[in-house]
Amino acid sequence: MYGDHLETVCGCVVGGAGPAGMGLLFNALKSGTMPELAKEGLIIVDASPTPGTGRLGQYRITANSVGDVFLDCLRDPALRDVFEPLEHSPAYWRIRRQAQSAPQLADVAQLLAEASTLVLDFIVEHYGVKLWSSTTITEVVHDGDEYQVWVESEGRTRRIRCRAVVLNLGGRQDPQHLLNGLADQGLAIAPSARIQSADALLRMNAVQLRDLFASTLARKGRISVVGGSHSAFSVLENLADALEFAGLKEVTLVHRSPVRLFYETAQAAMDAGYTFDPRRDVCPVSGRVNRSGGLRYRALDVGREALANGHIGKTGVRVQLLQTDNGPAGHYERAREALAESEFVVQCTGYQPLLPALSYANGSPINLLEVKGGLDSDPCGCPLDATGQRLHGLHLFGLGAGLGVDPRLGSEASFDGRIYGVWQFHNDASRAVIDAVLERLQVPLAQPVSLGRLLVAVPSRNEERQPFLWPAMVNAQS
Ligand SMILES: Cc1cc2nc3c(=O)[nH]c(=O)nc-3n(C[C@H](O)[C@H](O)[C@H](O)COP(=O)(O)OP(=O)(O)OC[C@H]3O[C@@H](n4cnc5c(N)ncnc54)[C@H](O)[C@@H]3O)c2cc1C
Repeated sequence: MYGDHLETVCGCVVGGAGPAGMGLLFNALKSGTMPELAKEGLIIVDASPTPGTGRLGQYRITANSVGDVFLDCLRDPALRDVFEPLEHSPAYWRIRRQAQSAPQLADVAQLLAEASTLVLDFIVEHYGVKLWSSTTITEVVHDGDEYQVWVESEGRTRRIRCRAVVLNLGGRQDPQHLLNGLADQGLAIAPSARIQSADALLRMNAVQLRDLFASTLARKGRISVVGGSHSAFSVLENLADALEFAGLKEVTLVHRSPVRLFYETAQAAMDAGYTFDPRRDVCPVSGRVNRSGGLRYRALDVGREALANGHIGKTGVRVQLLQTDNGPAGHYERAREALAESEFVVQCTGYQPLLPALSYANGSPINLLEVKGGLDSDPCGCPLDATGQRLHGLHLFGLGAGLGVDPRLGSEASFDGRIYGVWQFHNDASRAVIDAVLERLQVPLAQPVSLGRLLVAVPSRNEERQPFLWPAMVNAQS
């Protein structure tokens, strides 16, 4: 619309209020840093009309941790009053009953949604935080010492100028990423094959899965899954459960490195007959085997069964596990054949971060450097651009971004991915980000602007339109 451009100035924008963004807000309340974080103005922007849980509850699988890990995110004296209403929540009691077993992610998400609503209501009321729901971040511009966050809501564009942006908009699975990874190993899939992201597949119910695979099953077409992580084994189980009686007989799992299993201790792994490298696979801090990269809970059961007798769970569907990098004799060739023949290839090779357009004020695009499993960022989630310049004040740590292993907390030497998960979002990951944001907010701007929650007219990005002041918006969507 003509001239519908407004500018808001604040200290910090939390872009994306899924488990990662909410983890930071919970942690700021627990640690008593919320007043400081909100002092110069804190705006939470989320595309959803009901921010708080992101995608987690849409995955039709069990969690990779026990219920108590999620309850632990809510357990803090500073949050007791805020969470009092949860005592009457069926979702809370469902997770409590599964404190020592892995709950369904739908149940976890229901609890997190209720807890998030309580936290958001509380911080809006007590700290003057603004919640802009149903608002999409379209672009982030790095301009000297500050960031401009362009947002869209109901067809209107607005700009927020701020010192720090915590940007966790979730992840995506780029098919090109899969093709490149396979090409690096001299592998390829047939041009006619369909690449299906695990992310979409894990959100489908049995009827949707049967519809998707009906014609492939009717032709007895081959299905391959690429990846060896939690998602890959969850995909195997969901496919076998939904499609066994629609004619699915076998799935091929192509994985690069050995399938890793998690054990609480080296002794437990040895008792189970699991072979591991005591030097590289054991965490020196906790003594756990494959602490970061191992399959856990339901995915562990599926993985063990697959490795032991080539079946998926308790179904009659067979799985061929083929390791392409230093695997047993013949695996690489069979994997090449399977991929070339497959009609469907399911991509379970990790996530890339979902990002808005990123640019410098001169219009040149910002491309963030990636590493295995996420972004090349420092311990507080500040990424590097393609020239190696650190983007201080921009923080990412959610799905597709992650953080490097903190040696003080430990991991196994053989794990070279990025760490992310709900508990980390609520604890170590967000603690480092909060500290960095607060430090940044304390340093005065080189060219001070009048901070606080202001709205002023801004020119259109292309400078063609006249600025238009719309005072009625001053307190809108608070
Ligand atoms: C299959 C699967 C299973 C997992 N299981 C577990 C588990 O058991 N335990 C665990 O701890 N972790 C698990 N994880 C990891 C992680 O906890 C989840 O992926 C979690 O959902 C990531 O949270 P997030 O906030 O980074 O992203 P998301 O959950 O995707 O949330 C992103 C948020 O950003 C908002 N958004 C998106 N785009 C925009 C935009 N342009 N502007 C404004 N807002 C926007 C969305 O509305 C949403 O609220 C799992 C991940 C996957 C993929």
